Amino acid sequence: MKLDPELRLQILEKTGVYSNRFSIAEPHLLLTTKEVLDAPKEMTEGRRTSAYKYYGVSYLQHNLVFINVRKIPDEKTLENTLVHELIHMRFPYLAHGKRFNKLVRQGLRGKTFAPYKKRK
Ligand SMILES: [Zn+2]
Repeated sequence: MKLDPELRLQILEKTGVYSNRFSIAEPHLLLTTKEVLDAPKEMTEGRRTSAYKYYGVSYLQHNLVFINVRKIPDEKTLENTLVHELIHMRFPYLAHGKRFNKLVRQGLRGKTFAPYKKRK
């Protein structure tokens, strides 16, 4: 998709809405590979020059999310990618798999999640 100011604003708005529903701090967004490369290296370590391969990347420790808008073909994939990355933020202990995918589907349907609490 082509990232124009309007789409950028839409993505920011959606991020706000989903972050509220998931009870997470709104992450900082990177929307182009250039923004990934321009971000401090210690923030994007491990997924910096390889980020372009993915639709999205979460940098959990830094509350940072990359959405690879240019690679994403359509609005539905964009929304899926955004919710996928925000579910990583809300469920940082959870790996990809059935449970993860279920949470993404629930998130897309508008489910809200209570704040994440670390177990003692
Ligand atoms: Zn993922």
